[in-house]
Amino acid sequence: MFFMQAISLLQIAPTLAEFFEVHLNSQARSVEQILEFAYSRKPQVVVLVVIDSLDFRFYTDFADELREIQELVERDGLLFECEAVSSHTTPAIASILTGLPSEAHGIFMDNDVGKSKIKSILEILEDEGKPTAAAIETNGAEPLSGRISYVFAVDDREDIFEYDELITTHTISVLKKHDLRLVFSHLRAIDRFAHRGEDLRVAAKAINENVRAIANAVRERNGLLFICGDHEMHGRDKDKKYGKAPATVPLIVCCP
Ligand SMILES: [Zn+2]
Repeated sequence: MFFMQAISLLQIAPTLAEFFEVHLNSQARSVEQILEFAYSRKPQVVVLVVIDSLDFRFYTDFADELREIQELVERDGLLFECEAVSSHTTPAIASILTGLPSEAHGIFMDNDVGKSKIKSILEILEDEGKPTAAAIETNGAEPLSGRISYVFAVDDREDIFEYDELITTHTISVLKKHDLRLVFSHLRAIDRFAHRGEDLRVAAKAINENVRAIANAVRERNGLLFICGDHEMHGRDKDKKYGKAPATVPLIVCCP
């Protein structure tokens, strides 16, 4: 089901907070359609996968390569076109996890992450006795260690497919923990390929396979899967055909 209604990436964290019945400070509203979907499925665990540089245009242009993700929507899922809130990874992910714009969370660079006093939805749930996990790059993981139950740090590396496979493997393995309520993970191949001008179809296919593997593990746990992009693909502003339309990314919520 595709919703034309404009929502923003800031609404993900408030929606998760409402679903898990915890308090989160954000001006953004939760998304009613997602809550209704979640309440009717009663998932044991929620997995949030952020796909770096997956913007809405990429999602439609590479529909064939992203077949598995498209099918998740068609089988039993919701699709939203979401307004992006930043053009860079670190502040965008901080906004996804806090429900706050960059000015409010103050996280612009990797080394701001540890200094921020604002708690992410992961830490808020953890503090309420609902265990959470993250599989992310080492710089982003370090500030979370000791603050949430399961932290998987993956070092950045030349082989971005190996990197994404490690993130995927950790995401799948932590789903075996039955007390777990929320997992966050971040896949990066599309962004890396875009920056280097390499064949984006190859990166899209690899992402598709990783999402397929994660979706299978989510299905086994009767879980709910959120998939979204973090920002518009870099270099889009040079594209005259699309002009200055606001940057949007897909948000998929599904029961695989
Ligand atoms: Zn990014």
